[in-house]
Amino acid sequence: MPELPEVETFRRFLLQGVSGSPSILGKQIENAEVLWEGSLAFPALEQFLDQIQGQFVTGVSRRGKNLLVSLSDQTLIIHLRMSGELVVEKKTNPKGKHYRIILNFSDQYRLAFNNIRKFGRIWLTADPDSVVGHLGPEPLGEDFTAQRFHKLLHNHNRQLKYFLLDQTLIAGMGNIYTDETLYRARLHPARISSTLSVAESKLLWKSMREVLKEGIQNHGSSIDWMYKGGDYQKYLSVYNLEGKLCQRCNTPIERIKIAQRSTYYCPSCQMLPE
Ligand SMILES: [Zn+2]
Repeated sequence: MPELPEVETFRRFLLQGVSGSPSILGKQIENAEVLWEGSLAFPALEQFLDQIQGQFVTGVSRRGKNLLVSLSDQTLIIHLRMSGELVVEKKTNPKGKHYRIILNFSDQYRLAFNNIRKFGRIWLTADPDSVVGHLGPEPLGEDFTAQRFHKLLHNHNRQLKYFLLDQTLIAGMGNIYTDETLYRARLHPARISSTLSVAESKLLWKSMREVLKEGIQNHGSSIDWMYKGGDYQKYLSVYNLEGKLCQRCNTPIERIKIAQRSTYYCPSCQMLPE
């Protein structure tokens, strides 16, 4: 599933364009096509088609794992979920088999929401907070300090894996970056959040931000989902590496289940305190 770095990669790609795909900034939406209605979370089909046409794209931002495309009057919010991806291409290209929603621009381009597994969702609303208002702070936000993180950890008695995956506590982390963050910080995924010392909280905060930034620099990772452009999977230390040797201590990486998710860690570098 795309996590913060992968969604951030899409944000930059939509805003800046990549080879063969221009930026969508400033483009006017001529009309929309909804090929699978289940992808549309809000509003109802007819209102969506009616409201979106004629609006201009004025910005592209991100909140957690959600992409927010600012339009003249409203915001289009896209959650890619499992296998969603976005394609900017010429309208003359053949349509993909798994295109669910298409925005046709007034020039020769379109934006297509491609989604094999159909879990992705799109909202069109004048009140983005109604969709993303429940999310916790952005881990890379300037106001998200180590002190604030320490307080947040201590306000909850949650296993760190649960804590970091909970989007209402912190926005944008998923399975890959959570396991990599905990490995870097040498913390056991089942450690209880409120037991972390100030120094441990700070190391976790620093590790999370480093891992996310490295993910973004490498355009995300290309495992578990459709997006093929990322390289970060080459730099993973524990995720999906059960049985491989820890780079720090040569102990085999183990896989356990926490929060119903496969969790990879080094049993020797990431010990639970006695
Ligand atoms: Zn180790």
